[in-house]
Amino acid sequence: MGARFYDGRSARAYDAETAMDGDVLRILAEGHERVWPLRDLTVEIEADQARVSSRKDRDARLVLPVGDWNPMIGDRLAALTRKRRRREWWLIGGLTAAAAGVVLFVTVGVPALSGPVARATPVSMEQRMGDNFNGQISAFFPTCDDQAAQQTIAALGDRIAARADTPFDIRVRAVDAPMVNAFALPGGYILITDDLIREAKTPDELAAVIAHEVAHVEKRHVMQSVWRNFGVGMLLDLVVGGGTGAGQQAVILAGQASELSYSRSAELEADTRGQALLHADGMSSLGMAPFFERMAAGEKHNSVTDAAEFMNTHPDSRRRAGAARAAQRPGRAALNAEEWAEVKGLCAVEESENPVERLRRRFGIGDDKTGADQRLEVRPHGQ
Ligand SMILES: [Zn+2]
Repeated sequence: MGARFYDGRSARAYDAETAMDGDVLRILAEGHERVWPLRDLTVEIEADQARVSSRKDRDARLVLPVGDWNPMIGDRLAALTRKRRRREWWLIGGLTAAAAGVVLFVTVGVPALSGPVARATPVSMEQRMGDNFNGQISAFFPTCDDQAAQQTIAALGDRIAARADTPFDIRVRAVDAPMVNAFALPGGYILITDDLIREAKTPDELAAVIAHEVAHVEKRHVMQSVWRNFGVGMLLDLVVGGGTGAGQQAVILAGQASELSYSRSAELEADTRGQALLHADGMSSLGMAPFFERMAAGEKHNSVTDAAEFMNTHPDSRRRAGAARAAQRPGRAALNAEEWAEVKGLCAVEESENPVERLRRRFGIGDDKTGADQRLEVRPHGQ
């Protein structure tokens, strides 16, 4: 069988005669004549058939045996293929550059932008956001209901916060949570877990942690973290298309990559500022370094996962302990012996109970996986 031409309008195949004429392919079929420049051709080889079409004449097709096509096209085919390959390389190069651009934007651009955006966020907006967060988080981390101890902790928080330059009303409270951690929500809410309080060996250690969190609020790191996490999510959803979840997936991955480098500088800044806040009130800052050192060493009597949790959200503890030790100053004790005993007795949970059991009991859940998921939901605000 010879060459057949399809005009693209009907299914009919026309017998065709073909010839190369310089840089063009001439096709002559019953009532049809085509002159296709070589540079416009697309050739697909399928089994022993060559399917030839022209970029400028999209619907039409010429189909002929490879045995007829190859001798006719000769060397010109090689030149044609090379040209197309070059185009493909340009395309691959372009796509790679675009992908690298997106990664760079997410890992460098967004963290860089989140600072100015956070500082430009109206106080009333952060406050509203914080009130919402705070309401939601109470379901996961109930406030310990020991009024006297809570008042002592809140008063310590007030004393440290009084030296901070922030429009937010900083409120520190202890919550019942199976992890050694402390974190600030938008709007000045600071939560200290009962496990952290149990882990602290002196009031100065507790004060150092609170001061660190107050500094996060003052420097608007919390808002920065919110913008970083939700801002990129919204951006990627716009790019990828909302509702697919692909955007959110990418954010989680990108977040893990960008979180560390960003968090390290914010954490160091919060340490330095936290110590300055303590010094401003004449309080000792000797508690910061030993606490970080113990965490870094994983010296934890409750469980290994608790220390891992703290290390996860407070990276670089060992290096930070060194920096804190270099800047530390003695001063007044944060709490007297009586107040400290009261605080240590807070959130009466049996120490022997393991964290997974506590999670199960609290949420009434049957397996570890659900517990982990639930914890994930309340973690985006960082420490
Ligand atoms: Zn921190």
